[in-house]
Amino acid sequence: MECSGAVADFFSVFDNTIDMTSVTQSCLSLASFGANPHTQTTASAASRRGTHSEARAPSAGGAAGAGGDICPPLGSNAKLRATFDARLKSRVQRFELQDVARSILPHSRTAKCQRIRAHNSDVQVWKSKAHGTSSYAGLQTCGSVWACPVCSAKIAERRRVELIDAMEMHKAQGGSVSLLTLTTPHQRGDVLVDLLAQQGKALQSFLRDRKVRAVFAEMGYLGQVRALEVTHGRKSANNNGWHPHFHILQFHTVKGSEADRKDWTARLYLRWVVYCEKAGLGTPSYAHGIKLDDGMKAAQYVTKWGLEDEMTKGHTKKGKAGGESPFDLLRAVLADKKDRQAAALFKEFADGFKGKNQLSWSRGLKARFMVDEKTDEELSDEKDDLAVLSGLLTDNQWRDVLKVKGRGVLLEINSKGGWPNVQKYLHFIEGAREGVVFEPGMLDEVRELLT
Ligand SMILES: [Zn+2]
Repeated sequence: MECSGAVADFFSVFDNTIDMTSVTQSCLSLASFGANPHTQTTASAASRRGTHSEARAPSAGGAAGAGGDICPPLGSNAKLRATFDARLKSRVQRFELQDVARSILPHSRTAKCQRIRAHNSDVQVWKSKAHGTSSYAGLQTCGSVWACPVCSAKIAERRRVELIDAMEMHKAQGGSVSLLTLTTPHQRGDVLVDLLAQQGKALQSFLRDRKVRAVFAEMGYLGQVRALEVTHGRKSANNNGWHPHFHILQFHTVKGSEADRKDWTARLYLRWVVYCEKAGLGTPSYAHGIKLDDGMKAAQYVTKWGLEDEMTKGHTKKGKAGGESPFDLLRAVLADKKDRQAAALFKEFADGFKGKNQLSWSRGLKARFMVDEKTDEELSDEKDDLAVLSGLLTDNQWRDVLKVKGRGVLLEINSKGGWPNVQKYLHFIEGAREGVVFEPGMLDEVRELLT
């Protein structure tokens, strides 16, 4: 089947929209390629395409279209280009993963996130001057750091900057940061919410403990930022179930020698064991239950923090036995719809983590490092100050985009091909909302051509 020809023809025709005969022909070949009993008659789809493009072109391009392409041409630096491409691809994947999350959590706010318009406003497409990446505005956002791959990436990006700034300021003032990791024994069959409750209890008691406070005092403790994470070990040799754990960035003034660090670790371990046992979590081993890493490890951790969903990390993680993150579970469903286990685990995770803080700063620490108090929702709603409006989508265009699951692809096209290519894309998928069916292969080809 001459698919490439058909798709390429479509765009060459689009560039000279006056030639209506060719439009009809190219659509005929496209529609026959994606033949489906529900497909609308090709002639009407074609004529609607033609009419709409003429009627819509001025308003859709409009004033915004003029300022659309502000990104300098890419490609002069191959490495930069690769990074940019990888970033765009992972953004496309986030929307795909969000679609998966929506199918698992159909009644959640995440199911509406970046789909439903906010306050009846237009769907806007923006492009960042600084990064060349694109985003939507005028849509509802869910602000969920746990369940939403789109919001969590945006929030994490900003939270990471807060962490890095705080660490740098602290370092400039001569301070040290350590990374304290606390884990507990876990096995298959553990119920996640119970595990979380037990761990929370153990941690609170641990942090209030007199002997723990004494170690912290020796470190010249100023405060801490606690990160909550979870993986699931269904793919490990002995399937040891959920593994929620804490990474704690300790801000302190005493650097301490290697011997000090060992001494602190041993003393903290003894107290951690006490509270794990009291909470019914069993006895953590010295090898796995606690780790106190130096500033170098802390910096490495912060640099990578929140990049959980990046594809690059996704690949490296596959090498390890087990240890799937929640978004790895969504990836598993995306790759294989029959992976019901992954879907069920993601649901258990989303229910169990709802309302929990991903990062908790101890009291006074944000003020010390002049970090603004902003909620996850506020951050997920924030717009890039240096972004420009590329263009607006009509209600029907947006419905076409949703129908072909093209939200991420549209942004990718805007980032790389600019607004004129977005218009070509919208023109191509016109009618999807009313049942015009496109084979996935054809949509892939269009994406390829326009990016
Ligand atoms: Zn969201």
